[in-house]
Formats: sequence, C-alpha cells, structure tokens
Amino acid sequence: MSDSCLFCRILAGELPAERVAENEHSIAIRDIAPRAPVHVLVLPRTHVTSIHGIGTDERELLWACLALAREVVELEGIADGYRLVTNVGPLGGQTVFHFHVHVLGGRQLGHIDSLG
Ligand code: 5GP
Ligand code: ZN
Repeated sequence: MSDSCLFCRILAGELPAERVAENEHSIAIRDIAPRAPVHVLVLPRTHVTSIHGIGTDERELLWACLALAREVVELEGIADGYRLVTNVGPLGGQTVFHFHVHVLGGRQLGHIDSLG
C-alpha cells in the first residue's frame, strides 16, 4: 500500500470506484474517463508499479489479473472482440503507477498501426 498511489487509495476504500468484479488477488473497476463503451481496469490488490516490475514471485498476481480480465469480458458481453492494454512508464503512456490492465471493447477498435 502506497499512501500516494491513487489505486491503492481506491483499494483501501478511501476513494470511490465502481467495482465490476474481483477475485483473491485483483479487482476490476470502471475507468473514470472511458475511451470505449466498455473500459474497465484490472489491478492487483498489492502495489506493483507496472508489468515491468512483475517477476516470478508475482506470477500468481499476474495470472489473477488476466483471469479477472477474462471474467470481465464475459460479464460485459464483449467476447467477440476486445483489447487488453497495459502501459509501462511515462514514455509508454502510463499515468497511474500501479500496474493495471485496460479491458476495452464494445466498439470497433482501430488497427494497432493507428495507436498513438
Ligand atoms: P494509464 O494511463 O496509467 O495506462 O491508465 C490510467 C487510467 O486510470 C486512465 O485510463 C484514467 O482514465 C484512469 N483513472 C484516472 N483516475 C481515475 C480514478 O480516480 N478512478 C478511476 N476509476 N479511473 C481513473
Ligand atoms: Zn498502488
């Protein structure tokens, strides 16, 4: 838990968020500024800065996030097409430095060539 981390504060219940699903090691919340009809963030309950900081000791945590993302896809009805994104570092477009996977869907998503 990091006092200054937005997602740790959400996890601690200090800030509100719409929880979509959860499991032992991770939770899924709706993004506050959705870029698609379905835009959910899956994050581990423990603080890890990004996927770059995940080693073999955190294998279970990474798997839990991917399994929960899969569950979100079913719950949100987007199994026919979606995108999982995880940004790493400022240069990679990351703005909240607590590892999370974006689950995006519900509209036609652009080809990877069109990503900014
Ligand atoms: P990143 O830019 O680090 O890949 O993704 C951070 C995401 O967190 C952004 O899509 C942003 O809209 C979302 N976000 C920022 N602040 C909040 C918040 O207070 N609550 C929720 N639910 N999402 C947030
Ligand atoms: Zn955190």
